[in-house]
Amino acid sequence: MTSVLWFRRDLRLHDHPALRAAIDAGPVAPLFVLDPVLVRGRWSSPNRTAFLLASLRDLDAALRARGARLHLRIGRPAEEVPRFAIEIGAGAVFVSRDYSPYARRRDAAVARALEAHGIGFHARRGTLVHEPEEVRGAAGQPLTVFTPFHRAWSALPLRAPFPAPARIPAADHPDPGAIPSPADLGLPPPVEALPAAGEPAARARLQRFLAGPVCAYAETRDRLDLAGTSRLSQDLHLGLLSPLEVVTAARAAPCESAKFVSEVAWREFYHHVLWHHPRVLREPFQQAFAAIPWRRDQAAFEAWTAGRTGYPLVDAAMRELAATGYMHNRARMVAASFLAKDLLLDWRLGETHFMRHLVDGDVANNDGGWQWAASVGTDAQPYFRIFNPVLQAKKFDPEGSYLRRWLPELRRVPVRYVHEPWTMPPSVQAEAGCIIGRDYPAPIVDHRAAREQALAVFEAAREAATPKAGR
Ligand SMILES: Cc1cc2nc3c(=O)[nH]c(=O)nc-3n(C[C@H](O)[C@H](O)[C@H](O)COP(=O)(O)OP(=O)(O)OC[C@H]3O[C@@H](n4cnc5c(N)ncnc54)[C@H](O)[C@@H]3O)c2cc1C
Repeated sequence: MTSVLWFRRDLRLHDHPALRAAIDAGPVAPLFVLDPVLVRGRWSSPNRTAFLLASLRDLDAALRARGARLHLRIGRPAEEVPRFAIEIGAGAVFVSRDYSPYARRRDAAVARALEAHGIGFHARRGTLVHEPEEVRGAAGQPLTVFTPFHRAWSALPLRAPFPAPARIPAADHPDPGAIPSPADLGLPPPVEALPAAGEPAARARLQRFLAGPVCAYAETRDRLDLAGTSRLSQDLHLGLLSPLEVVTAARAAPCESAKFVSEVAWREFYHHVLWHHPRVLREPFQQAFAAIPWRRDQAAFEAWTAGRTGYPLVDAAMRELAATGYMHNRARMVAASFLAKDLLLDWRLGETHFMRHLVDGDVANNDGGWQWAASVGTDAQPYFRIFNPVLQAKKFDPEGSYLRRWLPELRRVPVRYVHEPWTMPPSVQAEAGCIIGRDYPAPIVDHRAAREQALAVFEAAREAATPKAGR
């Protein structure tokens, strides 16, 4: 039977259960559909799309080396996938399972349209290590606290990863379609610093990480001034790497890699939360905080997005994002906390801004990260723990090298002032060529006062939501 392998966020040939199932069934027509909703929607990002398009080119090359080719269509999947399947006489469409509310609606619509033509729709594992149905508490319930989730997730057995197929029996459509460039799609150019795209580059990144840095990961992962993390997030997001293969390889490393594997488990956790509680994309997981009266302050939001809040760690983080489409995890936590707590702006504004810039932007991880930082999510940072952006900078960038890298205004500011430049005496400001209020902004809020205000607002929301005895 001829089948279609509809690629989505599984742009690889190694450890690809759906591809393997399609090959077992007979000739395969690989397909990618550029969905305008994802290219132009409110959470789309020219950076991510450029990385995706470049990865598709690599996928096409890898398929050609094995006797097949990638077919490309632009349009709504519910129309394009059935049309393509009918045109090549396919009896089945294979996919790797996807979990967001949009992906679920899309896949249900495609499956219905295919069914009307007697074509099967088969979703296989491959996007996650373990499926949302598999990780459960003792009573069979989905887990919304990370520690028990991690325990249950870690206890599940791992199958051996599949090798990439040596040959793919191809079913070719006479019109393969062409992979467009970002300019063809009318998109602005991406950042210059995009990571190398495609499965081979992702595999090389994984090998480099496993050959050494993974062993120091637990100590260096939080340091903003060291390249201590794997930088695999865009690869895991697009499925250039199989998470099962990543976890299997990390566990086989000749050193302790549990901390790294537990971070990959956070990715699984947030995907499972989104599967079981799709409402989190609209509202806080903790409904007590749904009524927080977020401030409306466009000027403050713009200062945050531009990296001009006067708090160097927040500003360096936001400028790193603008320049590279990436932000270090510690910086994400501090920048997000600053928006939600110090500025008391709705975390969903920040969530959207991140999605529009991050190359690894991922609805599950991003929503999970934002709800964590805003203290409104599953197993979130408790609302009364509010990051101090100065202490965080001193702890995780002691010499200020991350700050200076992204904030050229601070390059000549001495270490003792670089984490809180507004404390520089005027003579030092003059000597460093950094006059506060002219070359670098004064803090737009006072962290101490903002902290007290945030505590009061969260406390009031919690009290209002707590049923009063005797009422
Ligand atoms: C506000 C906020 C927003 C975030 N948005 C995203 C996002 O859109 N996409 C995204 O992939 N990650 C997101 N994260 C999680 C994390 O910051 C990135 O995954 C990480 O910085 C990527 O760098 P790395 O690959 O070097 O990570 P490593 O530290 O090497 O971690 C390995 C992998 O584990 C996963 N991972 C690590 N930390 C987390 C986490 N806290 N939550 C979920 N998965 C994690 C990622 O897939 C990552 O590639 C967000 C975190 C916060 C606080």
